[in-house]
Amino acid sequence: MLNSLRSILQEVNSANDFGDLLEIIVDRVKAVMNTDICSVYLLDAKTDTYMLAATDGLRQEAVGKVSMSAEQGLVGLVARKAEPLNLEHAETHPRFAYFPETGEEKFSAFLGSPIIHHRTVLGVLVVQQQQRRRFDESEEAFLITIAAQLAGIIAHAEATGELARAISPELEQDSASGEAHYSGLASAPGIGIGTGIVVALPADLNAVPKRRTGDIDGELAKLRDALDSTIKDLKTVHQDLADKLNPEEIALFDVYVSMLDDNSLGGEVSERIKTGVSAQYAWSRVILEHIRTFSAMENPYLRERATDVRDLGRRVLGYLQQQQHEEKHYPENTILIGEELAAPNLADVPFENIRAMVSAKGSYNSHMAILGRAMGIPTIMGAVDLPWSELDGCELIVDAHQGLVINSPTAQHLEAYEKVYEEELSFAADLEATKNEPSVTLDGQHISLWVNTGLRIDSMLSLDRGAEGVGLYRTEIPFLMRERFPSEEEQRQLYREQLEMFSPHPVTMRTLDIGGDKSLPYFPIEEENPFLGWRGIRVTLDHPEIFLVQLRAMMRASIGLNNLRILLPMISNTEELDSALVLIKRVYHELTIEEGYRFDMPAIGAMIEVPAAIFQIGEIAKRVNFISVGTNDLTQYLLAVDRNNPQVAELYHSFHPSLLKALRLILDDAKKYNCPVSVCGELAGEPLGAILLVGMGYEFLSMSSANLLRVKAILRQLNMSDMRELAEQACLLTDTFAIEDYLNKALDQPGIARLIRPTSSPSLL
Ligand code: PEP
Ligand code: MG
Repeated sequence: MLNSLRSILQEVNSANDFGDLLEIIVDRVKAVMNTDICSVYLLDAKTDTYMLAATDGLRQEAVGKVSMSAEQGLVGLVARKAEPLNLEHAETHPRFAYFPETGEEKFSAFLGSPIIHHRTVLGVLVVQQQQRRRFDESEEAFLITIAAQLAGIIAHAEATGELARAISPELEQDSASGEAHYSGLASAPGIGIGTGIVVALPADLNAVPKRRTGDIDGELAKLRDALDSTIKDLKTVHQDLADKLNPEEIALFDVYVSMLDDNSLGGEVSERIKTGVSAQYAWSRVILEHIRTFSAMENPYLRERATDVRDLGRRVLGYLQQQQHEEKHYPENTILIGEELAAPNLADVPFENIRAMVSAKGSYNSHMAILGRAMGIPTIMGAVDLPWSELDGCELIVDAHQGLVINSPTAQHLEAYEKVYEEELSFAADLEATKNEPSVTLDGQHISLWVNTGLRIDSMLSLDRGAEGVGLYRTEIPFLMRERFPSEEEQRQLYREQLEMFSPHPVTMRTLDIGGDKSLPYFPIEEENPFLGWRGIRVTLDHPEIFLVQLRAMMRASIGLNNLRILLPMISNTEELDSALVLIKRVYHELTIEEGYRFDMPAIGAMIEVPAAIFQIGEIAKRVNFISVGTNDLTQYLLAVDRNNPQVAELYHSFHPSLLKALRLILDDAKKYNCPVSVCGELAGEPLGAILLVGMGYEFLSMSSANLLRVKAILRQLNMSDMRELAEQACLLTDTFAIEDYLNKALDQPGIARLIRPTSSPSLL
């Protein structure tokens, strides 16, 4: 069964379109289970009925015609109860309904399994048999397994509109405008209108965007060059290894070389290019097809050959991408798109050209989302159904208020969005007026608004917006942009620039926080469970050579400025803190006593982002000069919700009552030890979050610079006593939605509501 399942899924993955895919399912399931009929019924959301979408065994004329509600027939019963139904003699069941169009009267045995995605029954998969019999447990389990696999595929088809077309083919005409919608997680607000530019990880066969070309000869020449370079490499390796491998192993290199010639892969790809697609796209498609064929083979030796084909495929693709690197062009209205956008993708793009960013993977608090917010670039993460590799060069609207990507918009929608875009520009211009105003509440209490930085561009924006200091400089960001660890002197210059830019204001530099979703290309950390693994201080304590160089560079950079504060990430016990402090003091001693530099010992702080640290604030406060709460990780660890996983993004509750309790506890305990405490997670930059935090008593908030003026403008309109009362009441509520709802209603006042929600998306007809 497992083999059958694997080979069905392989075939499904290579289907040309959704209709084809359904045909494969019904055909193969019927054959493997040896039944007379297999059918798929899919939910038509418009009529709330389950429509026969594909069948092998019933009359084809019934496809797209026969449908039933959840109250009708056995299929309806499976859908309503959301559980499998296994009947030996279906006609005697009270819910049996007869549909003459299908020709099903002769069939007795019935087994149906619901197709469920995110708690919604999207369809029903059914097998039927003439002979009266009960399907056994393993058959039932098999059908349930196929249905579960099918669920994700159907959800994808639903998002891309393919499902609607499969159920009602006449929709093809409706979609003549070509406009398509995809949803994702609205992660940095705003509207972006422009041209899709796909960026992909190098040599990733699955990540090659579809590009059409008019220059077929040019693309053929690129292929020829890449193949020649690869053949040359293979021959060199062959020679170098000739005396180290046995003849069979050496023969493999000859096989590789022959696979690249014109009678084999080379020829096949050339033919594909001649249909008008780029060499990279043609190459990756052909290779993926071969990988699929090998992977589906029964013979384990042949199945293993898929790995060889993949390896060869990546080598050639690497060469093709090298050629392209020099040609890459980013238009003025670039919408950056990728399967998993990461900071290094930003390295080559002129900042002023980026209108929006969309990533198929990731979630609200992925680091890319945070960068998007910092730079004020509308960003959508977790657009899981986005056919991202096909959007290169497409005209797009990114509505990052509601998490919507529109491909090939109609003129009417384009016009509506352009209007909102203009309104946003004018709102931002209005906020500029607050730039030189002090950051005080209506009753005059000063709240320090600091910024989170990492890229040079967001430091510049921060200064322009009147930041009073840097609450979090993420040092790993410049590390992510390089091809090797920066040297001590390179780091010193980088940090010096940051300290000088903000001097005399304080700059809080966090020591390298890699691991989790921030892996350096030159220091890969591969783990099953990276967020619970080797991360932050754990890595730097294990690698004192990296830590010490960074500390030396930071301290040397502060000479003459003395505005440096050092922050330690991911502290989960006092032993880590003590070890880090020993190293910090050692560096200070070396630089001042042994090397004769003169500067003040920087203030040292610990991040509170691991739940264990909440209950040791006293112990931590005794050891450091300040603490800073990282609500992004604290929320993820407290709620056990991966901040990067779109599947559980709905559970990432920024106003969870337990989080609010934790925030109060941290503040109360820190006060007992006179330890200053700030918040540098994203909550501090959300209007409602900032109000709550100030109401609780936090006086230092550090946020993306894009939020700074808005938060300042809001705090200037509210009294401390009102915010205290709001926080008090919010903390009595029992869930995140009730809390948000309460705050939104309480703050629905003129002048404030617009600051909380400045613009809204146009309603699409
Ligand atoms: C946090 O975890 O809240 C934080 C500020 O750090 P980062 O987002 O870089 O993990
Ligand atoms: Mg963190």
